[in-house]
Amino acid sequence: MTSTDLPVLDHWIGGAPSAGTSTRTAPVHDPALGEVTKHVRLASAADLDAAVAAATEAFATWGRTSIARRQQVMFAFREILNSRRDELAAILTSEHGKVLSDAAGEIARGLEVVEFACGSPHLAKGAHSVEVATDVDVYSLKEPLGVVGVITPFNFPAMVPLWFVPIAIATGNTVVLKPSEKDPSSSNWIAEAFAEAGLPPGVLNVVHGDKEAVDALLTHPDVASISFVGSTPIAKYVYETGTAHGKRVQALGGAKNHMLVLPDADLDLVADAAVNAGFGSAGERCMAVSVVVAVDPIGDELIEKVTDRMGKLVTGDGRRACDMGPLITREHRDKVAGYLDVAEADGAALVVDGRAVEADGAADGFWLGPTLIDHVPTTSAVYTDEIFGPVLSVVRVASYEEGVALVNGGPYGNGTAIFTHDGGAARRFVRDVQVGMVGVNVPIPVPVAYHSFGGWKQSLFGDAKAYGPQGVEFFTREKAVTSRWMDPSHGGINLGFPQNT
Ligand code: NAD
Repeated sequence: MTSTDLPVLDHWIGGAPSAGTSTRTAPVHDPALGEVTKHVRLASAADLDAAVAAATEAFATWGRTSIARRQQVMFAFREILNSRRDELAAILTSEHGKVLSDAAGEIARGLEVVEFACGSPHLAKGAHSVEVATDVDVYSLKEPLGVVGVITPFNFPAMVPLWFVPIAIATGNTVVLKPSEKDPSSSNWIAEAFAEAGLPPGVLNVVHGDKEAVDALLTHPDVASISFVGSTPIAKYVYETGTAHGKRVQALGGAKNHMLVLPDADLDLVADAAVNAGFGSAGERCMAVSVVVAVDPIGDELIEKVTDRMGKLVTGDGRRACDMGPLITREHRDKVAGYLDVAEADGAALVVDGRAVEADGAADGFWLGPTLIDHVPTTSAVYTDEIFGPVLSVVRVASYEEGVALVNGGPYGNGTAIFTHDGGAARRFVRDVQVGMVGVNVPIPVPVAYHSFGGWKQSLFGDAKAYGPQGVEFFTREKAVTSRWMDPSHGGINLGFPQNT
């Protein structure tokens, strides 16, 4: 089949597929085959306008639809997602490359947020104070914002849209979702499943595209807010541009997550955790552990245990019985592999070289095996850059204090973990670290859906984290009403500032 015979993925606007007006497209790969399997449309500003117009029209009704009706749609969507999750997992594996079990895990975490959103009648309740002054009541409402924009990254093509879309919709907003152009199909699947669940046309729209679509969304006068997840430079740009155009913005950025291992830790547990959190999803997770900070004298023993476990990992096609899949594109694979040359040039020790991997998959797949680098200098780009691949660095330190200084010294503050048997040390770490999500003997501390997800520093621009209570706050705005139902005996002129008596 030639490239021109391949399917082209449409936008989803106003409850139906739409080809839009732009003729630009981008290739979508199956990373385990190394082949282009389809193309995706790249929207023009006019296509984005059409989606915002559909969302604006839908908001007039959806924003006033009863809570009960909105809740019914969310419950119906939950049933579809739950019963057909294998279908979605297959899409994730074919476009992202992650192994099927990992795709299933991603969907399960997205499902949690859908279930949380099913409780929106309780979550988005206002408050009421009766008789704040004689015959006067005050109550507050949480009203939807209007049309909200959601821009998502390639690494969780189902979960990250599900961090935002269910809560936005359940609280009465209408959505324009701009997913990653690298693995776009799951967003169409989600939109179609919502339509099947009874969501009216125009409440959820999917516009595929690149910078042109993002810029059109960030500057559109009828878009009230932007929820973004991606790399730090783009997150910063999105935050600055969106807020300059009067929008409420939450922009989640990149990460470099450290795992601090104290000498008293159970090193078998630590080695399991480091391998799972370092190489799951080929390290393409914002909560992946990328640096293990080993407090003396455990470094050598830990390296031995991690290396032993890495020897048993199978890299290959995620549809087969493998532990780890390919990277998202050939360019990204080559960029990540380039850091191995940097490590050697900077004097680090390449303990396991992923370039030598024999993958259980097609020869052209974007393979890079699990890689372990010891004695990484903290001045090396291997340490300072977010690599976003299956590369685990080990840094040795002499003390807890030196380790915490490393955790706090970088520009990111997404996730971190401590491994120890000492409760006092763990408690101290929790207070000492300048990081938004902390694990204690848990390597990937992604909060459950009824808490909120987000980092500090350059891992999150804006005031609101994703999902949980902060997600509900983000997608609603409060209106406070002071009302008096006049007793016939009241009245008269009084120009003084209202006082409550
Ligand atoms: P990315 O920043 O390249 O892309 C994210 C989104 O921005 C995509 O929709 C993309 O189309 C769009 N985009 C890309 N370039 C743009 C530009 N120049 N102008 C405007 N929009 C642009 O990120 P990615 O490579 O898709 O995802 C990986 C990154 O996301 C990593 O840095 C990872 O840490 C981060 N991430 C963070 C979290 C978190 O919760 N903090 C979660 C997942 C991923």
